[in-house]
Amino acid sequence: MDRFDLAIVGAGAAGMFCAGIAARRGARVVLLDHAARLGEKIRISGGGRCNFTNLQGDRLERYVSADPRFARTALRGYPPARFIELVRSHRIGFHEKHRGQLFCDDSSERIIAMLKAEALGGEVQWRAPCSVGSVSVREGGAGVGHDARRFVIETDAGTLETGALVVATGGLSIPKIGATDFGYRLARRFGLKVVETRPALVPLTFDAQHWGPFADLAGVAMEVGITASAQLAAPRFLEDLLFTHRGLSGPAVLQISTFWRPGEAIEIDLAPGASLATALAQARATSRQQLSTVLGELLPRRLALAWLAHQASTMPRLRPDARIAELGNRDLDALCASLQHWRLEPAGTEGYRKAEVTLGGVATAELDPRTMQARAVPGLYFIGEVVDVTGWLGGYNFQWAWASAFAAANAVTPG
Ligand SMILES: Cc1cc2nc3c(=O)[nH]c(=O)nc-3n(C[C@H](O)[C@H](O)[C@H](O)COP(=O)(O)OP(=O)(O)OC[C@H]3O[C@@H](n4cnc5c(N)ncnc54)[C@H](O)[C@@H]3O)c2cc1C
Repeated sequence: MDRFDLAIVGAGAAGMFCAGIAARRGARVVLLDHAARLGEKIRISGGGRCNFTNLQGDRLERYVSADPRFARTALRGYPPARFIELVRSHRIGFHEKHRGQLFCDDSSERIIAMLKAEALGGEVQWRAPCSVGSVSVREGGAGVGHDARRFVIETDAGTLETGALVVATGGLSIPKIGATDFGYRLARRFGLKVVETRPALVPLTFDAQHWGPFADLAGVAMEVGITASAQLAAPRFLEDLLFTHRGLSGPAVLQISTFWRPGEAIEIDLAPGASLATALAQARATSRQQLSTVLGELLPRRLALAWLAHQASTMPRLRPDARIAELGNRDLDALCASLQHWRLEPAGTEGYRKAEVTLGGVATAELDPRTMQARAVPGLYFIGEVVDVTGWLGGYNFQWAWASAFAAANAVTPG
């Protein structure tokens, strides 16, 4: 039977990173993954350019968890600047795209190659593709602490034994590239609680019947303000919205999907900023144009026309061909309110098939925030997305993968 200091299940972002650090510090590390192609989520991330961190990646309020303070220690212990330094040392070109989001200049493959090179430098043993079966514990070896307790892992490439086991199998999103519930099942088998999971950073869908008036807007994109008004903790995001055939997508909707709960409404400001009321009042004072023409200059024209058509039943004076000069204050106020407080109730999400991440996961109360070790199971660690810590859109999820992996690697290779 092969013996290791550390076995890591899941060779994604967190697993590869953890393996490299621990192995370079002298640990005998084996990295197991059932997929033939490693780092697939990194490859498809950030539209193929991997938004590998965010300059504000150590800001705790950018992460969602049942315990919002849990991630603090790990994020402080390995802030974005450390990963940026590593990326620079591998001469990977990158740029800031939007609000601190850092992307590779050429391709996500550079980050995968960097993680592989770091792991190879430490002589990590790779077992992939390799199916991981049962995991059991053998107590009472000769040593103390981790040495006294060994994990025995059955795989289709043989049985192996390890002092420490790190679970880095990620969340449930994108099953077709290898996502499974392995980490959650293992946690439960060891008696650890798992916070209910659901898809996040995911497009929202609407009933065909309710979406009818907007279905023709597929492709329209614009900046909006968005919030999940029933959730007091939900921030208001100012991001781009994209109309699709089935509903809404784009960064604004992906962000709010993390906070939205089924049965609740979201609220969208289609004209963020204070200028809409002023612009309409000015147009009324100075022009004889039709309402559709005026609104078509303030909003994407297709949206302006669909909006007026949609409002016609409830606000008949706001006809597209009405002269703006003939409308009263109440008409314009009603129009502004409808556009700036658009409340709508999604029917659901596009699910794990399209979600970038999984909310929930191994309960943080079960883990030591300094090491990611299960409090009740010495030697067993959970890192990355499998843990109940979910970042906003914008590089935060990779930053959590790096920071939690670093914490665990430190713990299994002290000194
Ligand atoms: C389309 C898309 C785009 C994204 N873009 C970004 C972005 O730009 N920036 C950002 O910060 N985040 C992004 N994310 C989220 C980010 O990819 C994840 O949060 C991150 O990869 C999580 O790292 P992880 O190591 O925990 O899990 P993963 O990277 O998902 O790795 C898990 C590994 O475990 C393996 N595994 C699973 N089950 C088993 C099993 N039973 N046996 C053996 N191996 C198993 C999988 O094959 C996989 O290799 C994106 C996600 C998606 C889907």
